[in-house]
Amino acid sequence: MKRERSIPIASEGDAAAVFGGDSLMGRLRDAALEVLSPTRCAGCERPGALICEACLSRIEVIDPAHACTRCGAPFGDMLCTECGVASEEASEGESAAAAAPEAPEARAVDRCLAATVFADPVPRIIRTYKDAGERRLGALIAELMFDAAEHAEQVVPERYGGLLRDADAVAFVPVTAAAFARRGFDHMELIARSFSGLSGLPLVDALAKHGSADQRALGRAGRMERSRDAYEVVAPVGGLRLLLLDDVITTGATMRAAATALRAAGAAHVDALAFARVW
Ligand SMILES: [Zn+2]
Ligand SMILES: [Zn+2]
Repeated sequence: MKRERSIPIASEGDAAAVFGGDSLMGRLRDAALEVLSPTRCAGCERPGALICEACLSRIEVIDPAHACTRCGAPFGDMLCTECGVASEEASEGESAAAAAPEAPEARAVDRCLAATVFADPVPRIIRTYKDAGERRLGALIAELMFDAAEHAEQVVPERYGGLLRDADAVAFVPVTAAAFARRGFDHMELIARSFSGLSGLPLVDALAKHGSADQRALGRAGRMERSRDAYEVVAPVGGLRLLLLDDVITTGATMRAAATALRAAGAAHVDALAFARVW
């Protein structure tokens, strides 16, 4: 198992280095790294590209013309069945307030788009990025997310029009302090920085996350419970139209909780964009 490289690929806040690295020193450093530890595909581990052509072509892209605009689910059309039954299902559990249509959280996210389906090779790519510390994947994931947003805006303006064009700034769902300490970086911050560079939208580091529980270790109910009110807004967002980024949407509870906090702090509009949707 490969741990983090000792030489960072890009210095903090240096978005250009993520894409470029085309200075002589940058190229020499990259060449040296390639000899020491050749780049392997995050999807299939074949040496060569960060994500090989074969794996790129296997990624299941979500068609924005048929996605659920509330949760990003593929083939959801206007409302997916999951969003349709959410209130019914929640009324049986304790966390009914989190999903009931009457709750402010339910409407906190204006529109939601996910770029891909969380299916092979996407889970491996995300694991390699987050847990194996292959930080160069951040720029690539940002590019896939940006392409998805741009495409959706162009082909179905009646559904996703203005997703990029009308946004004032990009925000992201941050990791917990514990996850930051474990991984040494905030994986969404890195993606958001690249995304900001690609889109020309300013990045607002608006949210802080409390609690140390790893989301994946909790069940669906636990996740909904835990992520409610778990975010604190730490930058001015009053009156802003925000595009909120996260890597994976599972129940949508995380995006809703983050968007609810941003709304409470005065954000005028919150659209959500994820790399992948669990389905
Ligand atoms: Zn591959
Ligand atoms: Zn839905």
